[in-house]
Amino acid sequence: MLQGKTAVITGGTRGIGFETVKKFLENNATVILFGSKEESVKKALDELKKINNDYDVAGFWPDLTSQEEVEETFNQIKDKYGKIDILVNNAGISARDSLYDYKLEDFKKIMDINVTAIFNTSKVVAPIMKENNGGVILNTSSMVSIYGQPSGCGYPTSKFAVNGLTKSLARELGKDNIRVNAVAPGIIYTDMMKNVPKEIIEPLIKTVPLGRIGKPEDIANAFLFLASDMASYITGAILSVDGAARS
Ligand code: NAD
Repeated sequence: MLQGKTAVITGGTRGIGFETVKKFLENNATVILFGSKEESVKKALDELKKINNDYDVAGFWPDLTSQEEVEETFNQIKDKYGKIDILVNNAGISARDSLYDYKLEDFKKIMDINVTAIFNTSKVVAPIMKENNGGVILNTSSMVSIYGQPSGCGYPTSKFAVNGLTKSLARELGKDNIRVNAVAPGIIYTDMMKNVPKEIIEPLIKTVPLGRIGKPEDIANAFLFLASDMASYITGAILSVDGAARS
């Protein structure tokens, strides 16, 4: 489905991002994955090469909150591959602190990683896509972007902002044939969820009409569809992939 496409996937070293990297490679894309550390990027690349040594995959670890580092990295990618067709903004962190204990620095940090990073990557990739007559930007939102959550207010706040960026950039970049969409995952079993206590997860599963927790592959499939030409008339959408938990 992605033959001839070059994709950049942030937070591609584990969880939903890593599964999306695999899915895109299986569908013949060239993939450049980003992670937060050199060590985790190299580990992910080794794992992918073990699956298929012919995969066309590379990795970088820029600080996504630094516009200079992001620009430098995307320019290196453009010089090597000539174009970028797809950007998946997946890197993100979560929060659970109550408002009473929430530190300003932690609130700023989550907004920086979950929102400012998407502004930085989108700002740099849009001109590259425009020059190539179009592209696709996909963001990772969350089901809590629709109704909030009872603690860790920085996380849903950041994901509401992701939806805002998605809808606004879709309107702004449509004329350049750049589609911008988001996927809003429900409860997906990744490292992020492994830290959430059982007492919180089990009652949550009971609220999912499909009766199960999501798999990273459920989200990777949605990204694959939205990145492909099959979604060529879809932009500005926030696609819930949550088993109807909160849809
Ligand atoms: P994860 O913790 O397993 O992976 C997060 C990824 O983001 C990693 O690759 C990590 O390297 C990267 N990352 C984290 N901080 C970074 C930083 N400062 N700079 C660069 N990269 C950084 O998480 P996941 O569950 O796979 O989540 C991926 C995305 O999906 C996130 O945006 C998250 O908010 C969203 N999401 C997850 C769930 C869920 O239930 N797991 C639900 C809704 C939304």
